[in-house]
Amino acid sequence: MRSSPGAPPRDPVVDAEAAVRLTRDLVRLRTVSDAGDGGVEEPAVGLLAELFTEFGWEYEVTEVAPGRPNLVAVVEGGGGDGPTLMFEGHTDVVTEGRVEDWSVDPYGGEIRDGRLWGRGSADMKSGLAAMIHGVRGLQLAGPFPGRIVLGVLCDEEGMMLGAKAFAASSLAAGVDGVVVCEPEGYEVCTSARGGIRLRLDLTGVMAHGAMPQEARSPLVAGARIVEALAEVEGWAVRRFGTHPHAGAVTVTPTVLHAGDPEQLNVIPAHGMVGVDVRTVPGTDHAELIARVRKAAADAAGTAGVTVATTVVDDRPAIEIGEDHPVVAALVAGHRAEHGSAPAFGAVPGTTDGTILTRDAGLPTVVYGPGGKWIAHQKDEYVEVAEIGEYARVYAAAARHFLTAGPRESEGAAR
Ligand SMILES: [Zn+2]
Repeated sequence: MRSSPGAPPRDPVVDAEAAVRLTRDLVRLRTVSDAGDGGVEEPAVGLLAELFTEFGWEYEVTEVAPGRPNLVAVVEGGGGDGPTLMFEGHTDVVTEGRVEDWSVDPYGGEIRDGRLWGRGSADMKSGLAAMIHGVRGLQLAGPFPGRIVLGVLCDEEGMMLGAKAFAASSLAAGVDGVVVCEPEGYEVCTSARGGIRLRLDLTGVMAHGAMPQEARSPLVAGARIVEALAEVEGWAVRRFGTHPHAGAVTVTPTVLHAGDPEQLNVIPAHGMVGVDVRTVPGTDHAELIARVRKAAADAAGTAGVTVATTVVDDRPAIEIGEDHPVVAALVAGHRAEHGSAPAFGAVPGTTDGTILTRDAGLPTVVYGPGGKWIAHQKDEYVEVAEIGEYARVYAAAARHFLTAGPRESEGAAR
């Protein structure tokens, strides 16, 4: 029950400055996903757990892998029964690459020209700070129905171990909608492309460079496979069509290696073609993989080379209806902040949301501070003003979602 029934709830007041400071403090922690020596996300989780304690939030830290914790808080609204909304973000970042290519310290958290600079500023420490301070602002405005789960997960930039662990946990079962706070440049992303990574290992016959007739060359096979993949892509575009936001299937060779052994007068026996396939909602992954497998085998076969195909990773394309309550809530929150409706869009790659939908069936939408294309680049930044804007949108969206009343439980489409 509300403390003062009949009185309109107070508007959430978000501490935008605190959200900016938190972003800066997080950027200053080098939480690179492939640091390799363990302890990747630990400092960020330590900092945030301290803040959650200060806020009086119940939370759990679960070590998913050595030094790689998930931090999950459950903020009860204290306003009676209601749905469960989740905000999600990851604490790891990709490498800064060559520091000399940057014009700022990647881990300085410098604020200049209205921008906060550094690795992870957009992807996605500003998103984390905005979701945390958005929820804090909502909570300070008074009780609300239901509860909010804050999922601060590890290893998004790697194998998404954090999202996989959360999806398998008992907490996931009760979540009615997820906002993934990745940088999408004001777009409400109701779909995300899927991804398939394939390894095509080629086996031919080694021979003297002067006697190519004795060889079965994986170089020739590899070149023919690359051409065949372009045809598979054309087929896939016709077969699975073009999605209004996610575009069309792409089939891209990313590795072509055929020098094993590597010696200039030897035709090698072994090679490998790596393939990065991106899919759109409605793509039949099994059918597409079978097509690649056959096209590669046929192309290599013309050079007498055999192919062993390995599916290294397979993440579905996901989509949520534009009328789903969690989407409607974000649209309402965006409208309250900006005075107009947001554009709908698609995530070009996959996010933790892909795993939450695939493994736990959670309806997921992606919307967060920072430009869509700035992630993983040098001189990454986020506009300082956006951090407060997104925190306010999250607070308004959460209130909208949690107070919108009962709804039929609508699953996410794949
Ligand atoms: Zn990210």
